[in-house]
Amino acid sequence: RAKELGGRRVEVFAAHMHADVVRRLELAADLQRALIEQQFAIEYQPVVDLATSRVTAVEALVRWWRGSVFVPPEQFLGPAEDTGLIVPLSEWILRESCREVAAWRASSWDIGLSVNLSARQITAPRFVETVAEALEDSGLPASALTLEVIEEMLVEDAEETISRLSELRALGVRLAIDDFGTGYASLAFLRQLPVDMIKIDPSFVEGLGRDDTLTLLTRTIVRLGHDLGLIVVAEGIERPEQLEQLREMGCTRGQGFLVARPMAAKGVDSLMRTSLQSAL
Ligand code: C2E
Ligand code: MG
Ligand code: MG
Ligand code: MG
Repeated sequence: RAKELGGRRVEVFAAHMHADVVRRLELAADLQRALIEQQFAIEYQPVVDLATSRVTAVEALVRWWRGSVFVPPEQFLGPAEDTGLIVPLSEWILRESCREVAAWRASSWDIGLSVNLSARQITAPRFVETVAEALEDSGLPASALTLEVIEEMLVEDAEETISRLSELRALGVRLAIDDFGTGYASLAFLRQLPVDMIKIDPSFVEGLGRDDTLTLLTRTIVRLGHDLGLIVVAEGIERPEQLEQLREMGCTRGQGFLVARPMAAKGVDSLMRTSLQSAL
């Protein structure tokens, strides 16, 4: 009897596993098709100078409509990474966003571009060459491009990753640590990295004006970043009091729904002709 029950449980477990495997295979096949059929799009979220409210850069964020269903990046980037599709997808994002931002720069002011990197992309063959080509083909100056990495990427495969990032920096590209404060990298380790910018994770910014510890931590990160000579960007600004406190702390730049939501290229186009000044 016990054996029977145990056997049943294994079966249920196997059926569950099976459904999971099928779902993942379907997703992988859909991702592959999406790439071929160009179902991906890029949205751009403005980053502003907090002192002047001027847009200094836009961050490219990938978007996927799977039929009529929007799939958030966090749901498909992992599978794209596992299947290796992240490499051609990332190359497309990089080339396309460099091209679009180069065009905006030609018609307005010198905005920069931030692009998120994936772990597998950095260690892929010809990664540095691909970045150099994207810059050359688009005409975007290397100094206008910031590549964002998260701390975990710097800890795993540290040696190879850091040597690639140093090569990029030699091209004149800027580097940023995204989601800063949530990872495991030690401060001593961070000091050795070829980094220009840190982006404070929204989990700190969220607490501004509401939680004394998070407010203190945010202030400490801003000061640390400045003491290390880095540009400090606060992410996830949603409320006016957060903006106020960040300004008072002297944080250099900000990004968040209060400032501007991620938008399609058309939206950036018209933004470049107006200004966010009035909204802030
Ligand atoms: P991230 O690089 O930290 O990007 C910021 C995320 O926060 C974006 O989510 C953005 O829409 C969201 N966000 C911005 N302001 C606010 C705010 O005020 N409140 C809230 N709640 N959220 C805000 P998204 O586009 O869903 O991207 C999630 C993550 O997926 C990104 O985090 C990044 O790690 C990754 N990702 C997105 N696009 C790409 C890409 O093209 N390549 C790679 N490798 N990763 C990407
Ligand atoms: Mg980012
Ligand atoms: Mg972030
Ligand atoms: Mg993130």
